[in-house]
Order: sequence, then structure tokens, then C-alpha cells
Amino acid sequence: MKMDKIKSTLFLFCIACGLNAYSQSSAPAKPLPIIDVHVHTMKVNPAWSSPMCPWFLSDMPGADPNEPAPFFMNLDCSDPLQPARSDEEMQAAVLETMERLNMTIVAFSDAEILHRWYNAAPKGRIIPGIGISNANEMSVEAFRDSLSNGFYKVMGECAPQYQGISPSDLSLDEYFGIAEELGIPVGIHLGTGGNGMANLTQPKYRASLGNPFILEDLLARHPNLKVWIMHAGYPMIDELIALMGANAYVYCDISGFIWSYPLDEIHAYIKRIVQAGFGKRIMYGTDFMMWPKLFETSIGVIENAQYLSFNQKRDILFNNAVRFFRLDEDQFK
Ligand SMILES: [Zn+2]
Repeated sequence: MKMDKIKSTLFLFCIACGLNAYSQSSAPAKPLPIIDVHVHTMKVNPAWSSPMCPWFLSDMPGADPNEPAPFFMNLDCSDPLQPARSDEEMQAAVLETMERLNMTIVAFSDAEILHRWYNAAPKGRIIPGIGISNANEMSVEAFRDSLSNGFYKVMGECAPQYQGISPSDLSLDEYFGIAEELGIPVGIHLGTGGNGMANLTQPKYRASLGNPFILEDLLARHPNLKVWIMHAGYPMIDELIALMGANAYVYCDISGFIWSYPLDEIHAYIKRIVQAGFGKRIMYGTDFMMWPKLFETSIGVIENAQYLSFNQKRDILFNNAVRFFRLDEDQFK
């Protein structure tokens, strides 16, 4: 018995050696797939471009209306992320990153840039979205046409909060009704969106319009509407949990705050969502705008989260989005 055991141990050991030798000689395995549900296709605007230190909102400046407006972008880190300098550079960097990291993205914003990326990317890797934040942007008929022609698979980003409008406002209701009728998932911006918006940059912005409870009337009117709360309504965690509890089809994404607010705060927020039992309704997203290395920075937050199991990370990074957007899992194999 004892000899048998030694032999079998040696045998197992040899198998391990063989596998090791094999894996060293073969090409590196393709990384497990990742879906980023929140990517902006933006035109490069040098006037807005700036390097960025992740988690830069860790020390809000003391400010006073009699002094110059505060600057929130802390550039005091060893290796700030650099913005792309041209549309061509941005597209090349995004597509290269998607290929290397095995990423699929839900993308929206500038339609011309979106079409360019879509045409240059492998089929199925870019899921196009079109958002409505104010009825002035597009007629209901034009919106129905846009969704019906098949190019757009998602309604987003809808961000009426910046314009002082509630997503439950009746002026937007018919648009959401079309999404419900066509089975199109809807992404709605809720939560923060920078700092000093109400008195420095976006006078109509209201923090209270980012409260997840603001969705209740909309959801009551459209019981089959599939909504995901962008930015997880940060920092209104109790309201987020209560709303997702009351509405079985509401998901959330962790974009934006994942790379801007203090890292401990981000982890506490994500941990709370999962701890409250919503690990199957939380999706990974960046809120990518201009810094190509932001993808690695943000994925690293989830990969390094010690409170998440391997399966919980895979749910956030991939499985939950496959289910929410009703994607074909086989296309990722
Ligand atoms: Zn947003």
C-alpha cells in the first residue's frame, strides 16, 4: 500500500511536470472574456483632454466662492493615465486593448465615432447604444426608427439628471415605452457625475435626481422594462439595494466611481452590493472617455478585490452582462 502510494504520487508529479513543460512551450491562453457595459465613444477634444490619476477624488479641496473655482483633478501620482491625442489614436488603442484583454463593450455617445469603431472591430464585439436624456434631442418617431433599424441594441446612456429632469418625468415616458416594447435594455445615469456640478459646471444638475428611488414611477409604468442603474447610484447604497429588491429586473453597473473615488470607498460599496445578495445583478463598466489605460486600471479593481470569490468576479466581469443583454455565450468561446 505504502509503495503504491509513493508510486502514484510520483506519477501525479510527473503528469504535473509534463503539463508544466507543455504549457511553457505553447502560446499563452486567451484571457477569460470581459464585458464592459459602459464605454463612451467620444471625439478627442484637446481643450478637455487631461492626464488623470485614478482615485483622484480622495481629498476634496476646501473651497470658498470668493476664491478661484477649485480644481478637482489631482495630478500628484507617479504615473497619470494619458489621454489619447487624436481620434485615430483613441480607436487604435481601444481596439488593441479589447483584443488583448478579450473584451466586448457596450458603447454609446458620438454616433460617428461609434460607427467607425463598430466597422473596425470584430463582429459582435461592440454593442451599440443610443441614449435620450431630454425629449428635445429626438422625436419619439425618430427614436423608434433608430431602434427598429437593428443597429442599436441598447438605450443608453440616458442622463436626464444633468438637465434637472427625472427619468420618471412624463416627457421621457414614450421613449422608455418603445424600449420596453422592443425588449431593449436601458441604461440610466444615477448618482454622482463629478464634483461641483450644481454650482460650477452643470447648473441644472441635482444630486437628489440621482437617487435610485427616482426610478420607481417609471418602473411602475413599465413593469417589463429592463433597466440598469449606471454608476450603481453611488453613493446611495441603501436606496439602490431597496430598489433592486423591489424590482426584479433592475441591474447596476459600477462604472465611473470605480476609478475616481477613494479606493477603500469603492471596495466598501461593491462589497455591500454583493453582501446584500445582488452579486448576480452587478455588471462591470468603466465609463471610458479618453484614457486608453483606464480599462486595465478598472479591471484591476475587481481582479484584486479580496472579498470576491473567483465566481463572483466572473459574474461581475462577464456572466451577469451575458444574461442581462441576452447575449449568446457561445460567441465568446
Ligand atoms: Zn453616467
